[in-house]
Amino acid sequence: MVVTTNTKLDMKFKKSEKLYKKGLKNLVGAVNSPVRAFTSVGGNPLFIKKAKGSGITDVDGNKYVDLVLSYGPMIVGHRHKKVQKAIKKALKNGYSFGASTENEIKLAKIVCDAFSGMDKVRFVNSGTEAVFSALRLARAYTGKDKIVKFSGCYHGHADALLVAAGSGLATLSLPGSKGVPEDAVKNTLISEYNNLESVKKHFDENKDIAAVIIEPVGGNMGVVIPQDNFLSDLKDLCKAYGVLLIADEVMTGFRSKFGGVQELFNVEADITCLGKVIGGGFPVGAYGARNEIMEMVSPLGDMYQAGTLSGNPIAMASGIATLSELKKQNPYTAFNSVAEKIESFLLDSAKKYNVELVVNRFGSMMNPFFTKESVVDFPTAQTSDTEKFGIFFWEMIKNGVFLPPSQFEAWFLSSALDNSDLKVIKKAIDAAMGKVSEA
Ligand SMILES: *Cc1c(COP(=O)(O)O)cnc(C)c1O
Repeated sequence: MVVTTNTKLDMKFKKSEKLYKKGLKNLVGAVNSPVRAFTSVGGNPLFIKKAKGSGITDVDGNKYVDLVLSYGPMIVGHRHKKVQKAIKKALKNGYSFGASTENEIKLAKIVCDAFSGMDKVRFVNSGTEAVFSALRLARAYTGKDKIVKFSGCYHGHADALLVAAGSGLATLSLPGSKGVPEDAVKNTLISEYNNLESVKKHFDENKDIAAVIIEPVGGNMGVVIPQDNFLSDLKDLCKAYGVLLIADEVMTGFRSKFGGVQELFNVEADITCLGKVIGGGFPVGAYGARNEIMEMVSPLGDMYQAGTLSGNPIAMASGIATLSELKKQNPYTAFNSVAEKIESFLLDSAKKYNVELVVNRFGSMMNPFFTKESVVDFPTAQTSDTEKFGIFFWEMIKNGVFLPPSQFEAWFLSSALDNSDLKVIKKAIDAAMGKVSEA
């Protein structure tokens, strides 16, 4: 096999190593989210110094093309001029007031205009918060307790949803989480993605189901695409049984299309959860629905949900600027063609080195699976050879491409990505695939 000679293979991670060891003392595993740990790929996490556009630089000065993008939010690239300007302007007026500001209304309008099923929205501080609030709302509205989720879908770390929950847990080989009382998950029913029968079965056996929650395009078991009419059939089934459909578009909202996966597939959910892109890098989540449902939420209704920093003025400014820029750029067609190119780099080099590989992609989300099975749900995603991914991952790092350190995470594209970045990606993929074939 060809051993790639690349000066970057001599890259040093000395300062990252040092910070990692230092971080272990007062932080848990030196990270504030376990997906940032390099547990499944081996080695220690990199510490980041700064990022600009499509690139990110670690504390040792190594530069990478960034395909993590903070797990999605940085869709127009890091430190976009207009976003930075809006943030600076907002900073001058103060950081938090505990009272309403005009920008909350502006962002709410942008969001509600984008999703046809959304008359009102409530801003929160994370995707997790958006989702567990949406569940509470579905239960308040229907007066029922049970929910159906799909194995491999991640909906944040609320107790009720930490079962069969995809990437973070799958990477660490955890079936669920310790500390979640049985009572908290006794109302959570699990179905298989792309399998309508597995949903219908629950509907037939349980009369008290409030909602089905789904990532309309799976992104947390790697990218998994709804087959045929799965989403519209699911919507019809929910309607027939009087069950609400919650679209968790925390990852896909404004990323797949301005109006999310729902617009692309023409399937309108009853409640939509958002996060990631809508804050443009600041902590913002949101849940929204038509008036009739949102009027259940306090202060209009009796479902309580609150937040000291919700609708934070700096975060709102960042969100408005990011979404406005995104709307102007309309990069969705371009995303498809860039993803198509990266897919061909992957498949061509897998063929060249005789590596079994499947690539799933959906707009600006994509990733390879080291398997020969087509990946349509969590069990098929788990047929991937994670050891091969680990080898691939490090070789990508050494060749200047920053990827999420897990087989079960999507790679994200930004509109800042250019042809020179694609060259780096192509070369890195070839080197990494070569390395995988030697293993
Ligand atoms: C990231 C994500 C969440 C959780 O969002 P946080 O901001 O990390 O709490 C929920 N659902 C989906 C689909 C996500 O991708």
